[in-house]
Amino acid sequence: MNLPGRPNGEYRSAQRDGSPASAAPAADVAGRIAGTVRPDILGLAAYPVAHAEGCIKLDAMECPYELPEAVRDDIARAVRDTALNRYPSADLSGLQAAVKTAFGIPDAADVLFGNGSDELIHIMVQACCNPGDVVLSPWPSFVYFDMAARFDHARFVGVPLTPDLTLDLPAMLAAIREHQPKVVFLATPNNPTGGLWSPEDVDAIVRAAPGLVVLDEAYQPFAGHTWMPGVLDAPNVVVMRTVSKIGLAGLRFGYLAGHPAWIAELNKVRPPYNLNVLTQATLLAVLRHKPVLDEQAARMRADREPLAAALAQLPGVRVFPSAANFILVRFSGKLDGNAVHLALKTRKILIRNFSNAHPLLADCLRISVGAPAENAALLSALQEILSA
Ligand SMILES: *Cc1c(COP(=O)(O)O)cnc(C)c1O
Repeated sequence: MNLPGRPNGEYRSAQRDGSPASAAPAADVAGRIAGTVRPDILGLAAYPVAHAEGCIKLDAMECPYELPEAVRDDIARAVRDTALNRYPSADLSGLQAAVKTAFGIPDAADVLFGNGSDELIHIMVQACCNPGDVVLSPWPSFVYFDMAARFDHARFVGVPLTPDLTLDLPAMLAAIREHQPKVVFLATPNNPTGGLWSPEDVDAIVRAAPGLVVLDEAYQPFAGHTWMPGVLDAPNVVVMRTVSKIGLAGLRFGYLAGHPAWIAELNKVRPPYNLNVLTQATLLAVLRHKPVLDEQAARMRADREPLAAALAQLPGVRVFPSAANFILVRFSGKLDGNAVHLALKTRKILIRNFSNAHPLLADCLRISVGAPAENAALLSALQEILSA
């Protein structure tokens, strides 16, 4: 900002606290923030993203494989021919058709696109919830369900899983009866536990829920089960997916499939131009090579069971069953979860620590399935750490 009487040059000299000479004093800024920003936001820590330079990265369920040369060439051509001076086209029908074909979405369903499925979560909460309305999910599950609900002034209710980290259906049905949630999120397979909820349990929840039920299939490519073919069977279901876990986390693209009437309402809340032209062009190019994505997912899926079996052989380690591209592990030997996490970090291996996140996740760490050499490095590091 160029305030009157404060030419830009003045920014070159600094005050004693390091701020530019013409900037408002830090204490004044802090005071104004304290009186303005919501107290619940002030109390939050920002979403933790670890610095990963030079590390083996098994903390974020990314695909460890880079796209083949031929796909990258196609992307380069598509991006080169993209008009960056124009807003994205209002007509998304080409991309919609490509996505529906590539991902097995029923013809009669409509789709809504998001800048990552994180944005779609917000869109659904914003479209459905008045302040204080309830958003409900089994818990622990994807942390962003809770965060998005709170940011959007809804009330989040997490229904505890069983101690074995499976779905507690009676508790879910009781909570739905009590809280009458506007939106129920069911991540299946669930993150961070890895479990796949049974079709019978999901059906029971869909029938009991008075509002929208979102089946979050972020990990569907690793699960061998999908609710997509039946997405139109119930009057209150949408299926949400992302390309983040199948090799395109950097692209930021999520999609939602459901009854055209539901999608039409949700579309009203979507920020205009939320899907940038580079994402659109890249996705169209990559989908011409869809078997590459399938093959990457199949590799991770095939590498999951050997990794789980090897982890289960380690002393004091419990492995929870996973239908996703990660494995949740509890450490109850000489070293607790925090100690193991730190020891791995010292060896430049990043995995996600849930030890202090929820009582049901005490001493639990979540390990993404990596490339074979990464999995091997993790296993030998763990062997060393646990036998020391
Ligand atoms: C990773 C994840 C997402 C978020 O996906 P983006 O498309 O990258 O925003 C959604 N749901 C679950 C359960 C996830 O684990």
